[in-house]
Amino acid sequence: MNFPTVEYTSTRGNSQVLSFLDAVCTGQPADGGLFVPTQIPDFSNQLEHWRGLSYEALCTKLMTPFISDIPAANLSRLITESFANFSHPDIAPTLRCGDNYVLELFHGPTLAFKDFGLQFLGQLFAYALKQGGDGLNIVCATSGDTGSAAIAGLRGKDKLRIFVMHPQDRPSQLQRLQMTTVPDDNVFNIAIDGSFDDCQSVLKAMFANADFRSAHRMSTVNSINWGRILAQTVYYFYAYLKVTTKPDERVVYVTPTGNFGNLLSGYIAAKMGLPVAKLIVATNNNDILSNFFNSGQYVRGTIRNTLSPAMDIQVASNLERYMYWHFGQDTMKVKSFMRRFNEAGSVHFAKGSVFDPLIAACAIDDQTTTETMRKFWQNHSYHLDPHTAVGVAAADKIIAANPNLGEYKLICLATAHPAKFPQAISDATGENDITHPTLEALVDLPERFVVLPASYSEVMDYISSSIQGV
Ligand SMILES: *Cc1c(COP(=O)(O)O)cnc(C)c1O
Repeated sequence: MNFPTVEYTSTRGNSQVLSFLDAVCTGQPADGGLFVPTQIPDFSNQLEHWRGLSYEALCTKLMTPFISDIPAANLSRLITESFANFSHPDIAPTLRCGDNYVLELFHGPTLAFKDFGLQFLGQLFAYALKQGGDGLNIVCATSGDTGSAAIAGLRGKDKLRIFVMHPQDRPSQLQRLQMTTVPDDNVFNIAIDGSFDDCQSVLKAMFANADFRSAHRMSTVNSINWGRILAQTVYYFYAYLKVTTKPDERVVYVTPTGNFGNLLSGYIAAKMGLPVAKLIVATNNNDILSNFFNSGQYVRGTIRNTLSPAMDIQVASNLERYMYWHFGQDTMKVKSFMRRFNEAGSVHFAKGSVFDPLIAACAIDDQTTTETMRKFWQNHSYHLDPHTAVGVAAADKIIAANPNLGEYKLICLATAHPAKFPQAISDATGENDITHPTLEALVDLPERFVVLPASYSEVMDYISSSIQGV
């Protein structure tokens, strides 16, 4: 099959058109928007031929038309390398639990789905730098999972350094150890004396300083990077081909959602021809997205700490990409939407005007999350991590309210291994021995991090001096 060449433009329309690798290495267009592909290839006629492909082979088929600047042999090697550190032969296995399916996305090196995007991104950066260039310094802010997955993706890579800021007391002990025990010289952990928002403010201030940014060749790996979104589309297809038996059979997915990155990948997968009956947006009590899809009111609130900390996010950066397609690729509308939201903290649509037949949304509180973990353990002898439990509970509610959805197979995306959240598991089920060898191995390792105040100039000084020192 020949597809037209796909390139990348900005959701806000004021950026040059870039190739895939350039868009990935740049991270974000200069106009403040997000990179989107100029076309989305449609694979619906090929799906039936792809049953039985390995994860890597399917990944190569789906990605090739999106990537015009990596020769085929190199791309398939990068893909193989991206999954070399996964511990399950199926990479993303699906498990039947009762009438439904759990798609386990936690067999990567840090036991959360973010490994799918970040292992691939690490390969892409290293490949781009081998073609030439002076090296990149990656800076990111994390509340826990992104930092460890980014470190696992970039550690030990030539011409790359990674600086990760985390709020000093916020990540769990296991999450911290996953970052601070990594011994590679190119990894720098910064514990910020402040909140996750403080970390993000420091990051934003650094990226707003164009001189500092270009002098230090800085980029970032947060969830707006297109390379991550593309990598995440693959497991939606892979699971589909595993659980369905008939051509064109439609399925329902439920995705625990924070920054809307994982769900957006499902939305793109549907545009690529995946037969989707419904994508369920599952949020915790930070319910700005579920409110938006249910009422048309997009209103920033204050962050609440919940049992599913990776989803404690109010403003989901990837929603901008969804709005781009929702507005029929009208970049003026995207710009005005983002400006109104940034100025007023809210945008109000007439009820029904943001209705999307593909999407349903539901918010789940901590008590329901815990009950869901307990019931799932009782009924299926299977531990859901709290993020996945939010998804399962949301699907229950949505299907109870829309019984016609019960006809379809339901695939629940399991975004983290339960052993990452032993306290929540123990509180919900009374089980105290949930462990994973990867995590047990960390406990006695030495940690490396510096503590800095939430000050843009102190963090900048630290980064500058570390870059000169290496
Ligand atoms: C990051 C994360 C999420 C949220 O994913 P988004 O792409 O930000 O919506 C959900 N669960 C876990 C375990 C995560 O680490």
